[in-house]
Amino acid sequence: MKSVRNPWFQTDRIRDGLYCITEPFYTWQNRANLWLVKGRDADLLIDTGLGVSSLKLYLSKQLDKPLKVVASHVHFDHSGSCHEFEEVFIHENEHQTLRGGDQQLILSAPEIGFVLDTDFECVPYQGFSASNYEVKACPQAQAIQHGDIIDLGDNAFQVMHLPGHSSGSIGLYSEKTHTLFSGDVVYDGELLDNLDDSVVSDYIDSMEQLLKLNPDEVRPGHYHSFDRRRLYELVTQYIDDRKAPLCPSER
Ligand SMILES: [Zn+2]
Ligand SMILES: [Zn+2]
Repeated sequence: MKSVRNPWFQTDRIRDGLYCITEPFYTWQNRANLWLVKGRDADLLIDTGLGVSSLKLYLSKQLDKPLKVVASHVHFDHSGSCHEFEEVFIHENEHQTLRGGDQQLILSAPEIGFVLDTDFECVPYQGFSASNYEVKACPQAQAIQHGDIIDLGDNAFQVMHLPGHSSGSIGLYSEKTHTLFSGDVVYDGELLDNLDDSVVSDYIDSMEQLLKLNPDEVRPGHYHSFDRRRLYELVTQYIDDRKAPLCPSER
């Protein structure tokens, strides 16, 4: 029998005001990074994990201001605990999906993303079974779109609509700290563009948008953080890989 882990989450301090929260006992190689940014007037939580343990309760000691929660996109590893929070934002293309709890789109292609018991080294509570897993509907979710600003008082994040991995994928960019939170649009691992709601041509357009940015640091939805040089490498590699088969004459 697997042991119960409480707390289920782990927090790593990156620097003052920036924390990375993970679910270390969910051992799927692609587990998500959740980012907590402390602001002057409000705090920002980017993504909410699987939703198998209360993230709100876990964070309660760290939160002393209003919390704005933004889902980088609707997939389960990012949106699972959104239902627990009051002020939740997601791109308008996936807004109804999260509000209604559409499991087909939230879990994405089950053969790739479905949550399995074997992916849990420990469990969040006695009796947990991944076979009952689902993401709860979040009827309070509000729609955001490209160009919207998430304002924390002393720092602000611009919403960049970057579809391709999914239709409502976004990045959040701070001009102040030159930080890009990139969700599943770009991370240093195999990028997924073969899901039910993926569109490769949109993904290429989104990647080209990222080449116009000058971030000093990228905080992705999975795996480790990286710098601008690595961002451009990953983006360029994706574009080259995807464009090549379509245009053999240009190779
Ligand atoms: Zn995803
Ligand atoms: Zn993901």
